[in-house]
Amino acid sequence: MDQIIIEDLEVYAGHGVYPEETREGQLFKVSAILNTDLRPAGMADELTLSTNYGEVCRLVHRYLRENTFLLIEAAAEHLAEEILLSFPLVESLVLELKKPMAPVKIPFSNIAVKIERGWRQVYLGIGSNMGDKQAYISEALDSLRAHPKIRQVKCSRLIVTEPYGGVEQDNFLNGAVGLKTLLSPYELLALLQSLEKKAGRERLVHWGPRTLDLDVLFYEGFVSDDERLIVPHPDMSNRRFVLEPLDQLCPGYIHPLTGKTVRQMLKEL
Ligand code: ATP
Ligand code: MG
Ligand code: MG
Repeated sequence: MDQIIIEDLEVYAGHGVYPEETREGQLFKVSAILNTDLRPAGMADELTLSTNYGEVCRLVHRYLRENTFLLIEAAAEHLAEEILLSFPLVESLVLELKKPMAPVKIPFSNIAVKIERGWRQVYLGIGSNMGDKQAYISEALDSLRAHPKIRQVKCSRLIVTEPYGGVEQDNFLNGAVGLKTLLSPYELLALLQSLEKKAGRERLVHWGPRTLDLDVLFYEGFVSDDERLIVPHPDMSNRRFVLEPLDQLCPGYIHPLTGKTVRQMLKEL
């Protein structure tokens, strides 16, 4: 992707764990690589189609002077998020925060932290088979859309499906949801579980009836087999009620472990 590059922007600020660092302040330098599509602005020669690097510099300067952090890790984390929330054309960034005068009693030329953060594409499975199923799903979508660290929420058509897993219960309403988020995979899982809880979900029987089920199917750049969060969702290739809606949103999306597209998995089912 195209990049806007800022190197060694200087800010005098008070971040540090020692009281004198907060009191007296010191020099910080910020470098950033903003990943963003520059083609529209390049073709039209029009600033409003790009990200104004002057404004980014002013935001960085203001943010690091108005907020005080103990750790440069924390300063970088919060600053990266502030940039991503303030400049919507920036898809991701690499941010380096340097503290060249850090109070270390041994000579060094630089100390810094460097992080990469961005909007990640995610696909979720959504389902309900109790009470007003449509309403539970709509409310969950509203909550996702209202979340400051989530954008571009799209939902597939909902389909009615027979229950899966052998428990006697009402039919399901199922769909898939695409979104972009700044939440980490585990932060997203916690949010989904809080939405299930808000919908009154109780876990009585595995694969039993539920007001709302929200599963992470894919999370861009993330693969995990930790049982708290297995991604991609391990059973998706066996589930028509997952693949059919998903195929509406992203037929060409490639499963990172098998190399198969969603359309291919659906055809092979
Ligand atoms: P299935 O995951 O087979 O569709 P389920 O959705 O009915 O079953 P839940 O009761 O909703 O299962 O979740 C059980 C546990 O699964 C949760 O506590 C959660 O930590 C874990 N889990 C593992 N991987 C995922 C994932 N990709 N998305 C959501 N939950 C997951
Ligand atoms: Mg599920
Ligand atoms: Mg679940």
